[in-house]
Amino acid sequence: MENLEKARKFIQELESNRVKLKRSYGVGIYLFNLLKQHLESTYLNLLKEFDKLPIEKRIGILKVIKGRLSQPAYKKAVDFSHVEKKPIEKFFLPIEKVSILDQKEKKLLKALGINDLYSALWYLPVRYEDRRLNNSIKTTKPGQKVALKLRVLETGYDPSEKYPAYVKCEDGTGILYLRFRYKDQKPLYAFKKGSYIVAYGRLKEFKGEKYMVHPEVSFQEEEFGKILPFYYIRSKGEIKAISSKTRHRKIRQAIGKLLEYVKYMPEYLPEELLQKYQFPNIAESLYMAHSPQDGDEDALNSRATPFQRRLIYEELFLFQLLLQIRKRQISNLEAVKLSHPEKHTEELISTLPFKLTEAQRRVLEEIAKDLKTGKPMNRLLQGDVGSGKTVVAMAVSYAFAREGYQCAIMAPTEILAQQHYENFKRFLEPLGVKVGLLTSSVKGSARNSVYRHISAGNISVLIGTHALLQDRLEFENLAFVVIDEQHRFGVMQRREMLSKGKNLFPHCLVMSATPIPRTLALSLYGDLDISIIDQMPEGRKPVITKLIFESQMEKCISFIRSELEKGGKVYVVYPLIEGSEKVELKSATESYMLWKSLFPDRKVLLMHGRLKDQEKEAVMREFKESADILVSTTVIEVGVDVPSATVMVIESAHMFGLSQIHQLRGRVGRSERQGYCFLVVPDSLKNTDAEAIKRLRVLVQTSDGFKIAEEDLKMRGPGELLGASQSGYFGFTVASLARAEDRYLLELAKEDAKAMIEKLNHMENLKKVLAYRYKDSIDMSYIA
Ligand code: ADP
Ligand code: MG
Repeated sequence: MENLEKARKFIQELESNRVKLKRSYGVGIYLFNLLKQHLESTYLNLLKEFDKLPIEKRIGILKVIKGRLSQPAYKKAVDFSHVEKKPIEKFFLPIEKVSILDQKEKKLLKALGINDLYSALWYLPVRYEDRRLNNSIKTTKPGQKVALKLRVLETGYDPSEKYPAYVKCEDGTGILYLRFRYKDQKPLYAFKKGSYIVAYGRLKEFKGEKYMVHPEVSFQEEEFGKILPFYYIRSKGEIKAISSKTRHRKIRQAIGKLLEYVKYMPEYLPEELLQKYQFPNIAESLYMAHSPQDGDEDALNSRATPFQRRLIYEELFLFQLLLQIRKRQISNLEAVKLSHPEKHTEELISTLPFKLTEAQRRVLEEIAKDLKTGKPMNRLLQGDVGSGKTVVAMAVSYAFAREGYQCAIMAPTEILAQQHYENFKRFLEPLGVKVGLLTSSVKGSARNSVYRHISAGNISVLIGTHALLQDRLEFENLAFVVIDEQHRFGVMQRREMLSKGKNLFPHCLVMSATPIPRTLALSLYGDLDISIIDQMPEGRKPVITKLIFESQMEKCISFIRSELEKGGKVYVVYPLIEGSEKVELKSATESYMLWKSLFPDRKVLLMHGRLKDQEKEAVMREFKESADILVSTTVIEVGVDVPSATVMVIESAHMFGLSQIHQLRGRVGRSERQGYCFLVVPDSLKNTDAEAIKRLRVLVQTSDGFKIAEEDLKMRGPGELLGASQSGYFGFTVASLARAEDRYLLELAKEDAKAMIEKLNHMENLKKVLAYRYKDSIDMSYIA
């Protein structure tokens, strides 16, 4: 027992102190010895290799082990192992047919996008509040957030006070005042003298008097005495009309009712995997996630409890199975076969005003090889902004067009689509290939004409936005699909686009400028082959990057002046739209005025995420055509080409991820002109945060996006790079790629899925869940 405690403490220490973890040797062996009596071999094996692994992985392993160690305490709380299970199909019941819910509850769940019992049970809380009544007025420290059961002594109202209404209470250990900013006395009538209430809030103390300001009060106790879950609520439409507190209570009630069913849910993960990780079963895991009986708020909120780990693992494991199945599925499909794609790509390349880089050539070869197989290509093309991905896509499109097939290029924004359109037209039309454009601003007869020409096969290469997904758009013989900036589109949209092929399945090239370290990319895109352009075109000078302190801003401004005189344009990026409590951070809106006053004779524009898409595009267009300085948040479009932009100023640079800055600076120096990037940090950082400065220096030293991404992961976690948007892209709801332990679990899940796919045929429940979860994206007949 003592060893267990020691190990727990040690892990906690290492987790809170990365430097210690980095510098300690023999951590793995030490933990191994402490835990060898207590852990299964899967976990012990992780520790054996521990000391040789990169820090990122070591952290993941520590978290996995911590989760395992905290397990027994939870296991006892509920036990459904002896309950007779129902068939898994029962759980796929549509919400309308769930008789335990009333009409209002059904409506509420539907409004949240929940369509069936299974999804409702998987609609997991996003956070928890510990409202168990374990405290008293006396034991609570000022500043602590607690739930207290109280008896009402008296109420009073004094309009001259800041909080005119008060309720005086006691709990046998002391006196507590609840204070409210009510406009009159009426709300006080609810507090009956002598009755019991529960209040949840932060206890404060002033001159010996203890009080809470606007605590949450319950007269029924139903929401107290337990750990309370909170669910994500989109406030749209009908839901918006209900107050937030009521909303939370209602969804809690609805899901609470559904928990009645959960104990009947049969297990569907393979027993050997549950054994391997010592995970609790599905019924207990779901129950505990919605209604935790025990455990501490922090562990729950960081999703570190074993039942949450199991759910996260399950999500990642099913995703990995999906990738495995898809890969098989695609290898069974037929696609157009080109026997000599090189002949055509070379022809196009010979008309370009530059020579391809070696990396571009290599990627073209990889693609050509795919196209000769007669099986659909499914390839991810990664490369920094400006590395020349689009040219590759253009050459391949040309090859298809010459053989009489159609291509579709889907870009995330109208301005990017427009840019591609002009680009493709410039090079393809002289060679006799017709290029078309379809976005939401192509309207009326022009739009109808595009539809007509596409279905008749007169347009060979169609470039567009989401508009390409429209049902009305029918291709004559779509054979090649390019998806630009993949992270802006979901997996489903990719599939939808590919379903526009007719007799044969289209080849697909997915392009991304977000560098993801290779191992992670392999785990996330297991269904795609990966090509990388890791070389910039010749003559393209790397952006000169300088780290400066705010006190040196003068120099930067006079530099900008001279660049503007030479005809350059300037971006200035801020981490915030508007000022906030954190005074030391500057905001775009406020600084916009400053830049205007600094450059009264120049055209300065402002852009931020609160503008509508069309407004953003208008600003971008104006900047490209006639303005000089663009003050912005990070919303500047990825990939937008303003060749005359030469300076990128990033204010409060320490607030950004390295990869994010790298992406931003990719927007300057996109021509023969030298690009410059200034990373501006407050002078105070010099003394307080040397680590932040060291981190930013990586950007000064290298312009290799992959190196920077690795560095980002190592130093501060993936931040923006793999934050919520990326997790969302893969359809994860509980797993988050921003957490080291989840990324580590992803790799384990991948290995498990590979090993398990052969046996899948015998696992009826697992197959049913897979087919149900991914009903639109896989055809289960390919298993076997
Ligand atoms: P990406 O799509 O990877 O951001 P693009 O294909 O748009 O990059 O290329 C960026 C710019 O560089 C374009 O203007 C393109 O014409 C040019 N370019 C592409 N490949 C080369 C090359 N090998 N040599 C010189 N310029 C190139
Ligand atoms: Mg691009």
